[in-house]
Amino acid sequence: MPPSVRPAFESVLRRNPGDFEFHQAVHEVLASIIPVLEENPRYLDEAILERLVEPERQIIFRVPWVDDNGRIHVNRGYRVQFSSVLGPYKGGLRFHPSVNSSIIKFLGFEQIFKNALTAQGIGGAKGGSDFDPHGRSDAEIMRFCQAFMNELYRHLGEHTDVPAGDIGVGAREVGYLFGQYRKITNRHESGMFTGKGTGWGGAEVRTEATGYGTVYFVQEMLAVRGESIEGRRVLVSGSGNVAIYAIEKAAQLGALPITASDSSGYVVDEAGIDVELLKQVKEEERLRVASYAERRPSARFVPGRRVWEVPAEIALPCATQNEVNGRDAARLIANGVVAVAEGANMPSLPEAVDAFQAAGVLFAPGKAANAGGVATSALEMSQNAARQRWNFADSEHKLHAIMRSMHTEAYQAAERYGHPGNYVVGANCAAFVKVADAMIAQGVI
Ligand code: GLU
Repeated sequence: MPPSVRPAFESVLRRNPGDFEFHQAVHEVLASIIPVLEENPRYLDEAILERLVEPERQIIFRVPWVDDNGRIHVNRGYRVQFSSVLGPYKGGLRFHPSVNSSIIKFLGFEQIFKNALTAQGIGGAKGGSDFDPHGRSDAEIMRFCQAFMNELYRHLGEHTDVPAGDIGVGAREVGYLFGQYRKITNRHESGMFTGKGTGWGGAEVRTEATGYGTVYFVQEMLAVRGESIEGRRVLVSGSGNVAIYAIEKAAQLGALPITASDSSGYVVDEAGIDVELLKQVKEEERLRVASYAERRPSARFVPGRRVWEVPAEIALPCATQNEVNGRDAARLIANGVVAVAEGANMPSLPEAVDAFQAAGVLFAPGKAANAGGVATSALEMSQNAARQRWNFADSEHKLHAIMRSMHTEAYQAAERYGHPGNYVVGANCAAFVKVADAMIAQGVI
């Protein structure tokens, strides 16, 4: 770690012992913005790094709830409000047993830069709980969401903090969370949550946006090399909202998405994933991906393994953090991968990113490649504020335009700061400059 960024990194290690994912996310950003700091030492004089790595506010709270058998459970709730310099805090809520301070801080930190790249006037935050929704009844999910909101509501608001979904928080949970906020506050405040149902303030394309956006970003990266996604085999990990709509868009654009996965293993379908069947299995019936293979003769379920061993030219990690390690990357490269785009947040370990870049593989970090979701959340906020509803085609067009301009911005920043083709440097530098300039302009607060 170069000396200019060491004090900030050391403060992160000292104040957040054991928060390894958070350390990893900060390290990646600090290591890649050196050219910006060299060009403009004012960022160091103004202690921008030390200020940025310390969240503006962290909320940790008890979430007690009662299951269907009358047993009382206690979970821990989090909201880390990282930066509001570019707009109200914005970022999803994750309900998953792996959630802890480190996970929420890494996600919140990433969100600052991701949201800056969208250029939609949104700050960065993240929240969630170590609650495990798996195997819980609808009534239990509802009671948990209500208990969670009983505390969180006082920290939210359309100009303060605007959550959305993430892993484990989809349409059902957003409904219950929004409903409880409305009840407690006596305000139907549409703009305080995004990812709402389209019948009550939700935006068209929000559901599809993250996955669609990731594929649009791949298209842009390939276009720079005069190539296209058409006819190419695509690996997708995960089977949640991001994965499903990445598969759908890849297929619409003439590619062949052949995999999906969950924590039990993966399915490979050489005929191309039947996205309607996948939606049926995952979204409607809430089953494991193995059930997809049982119903589809061209598919096979491979238990306990990851999709990266299947030969393909494009890889879209859309499941969760640190799901692509150095060995996975080596395998993908040996099998001829040309582009990797992160639909999930920080799915690639640093060793994997290094390997892709050394091999000349196009690599899009999640901050840019999965920003379509939160960008469309910002479009939802605009519609709510104006009491308007845009149709699907217009909304998709806007999403596509945002993805294109984020690609251009990251690409150009990479060139400008002396690392052509390096989208990690490009995305981090472009986003950092926007956040840092706004911090300087707004003073030491
Ligand atoms: N959880 C998503 C993300 O990681 C979306 C956040 C939002 O729409 O606020 O960006």
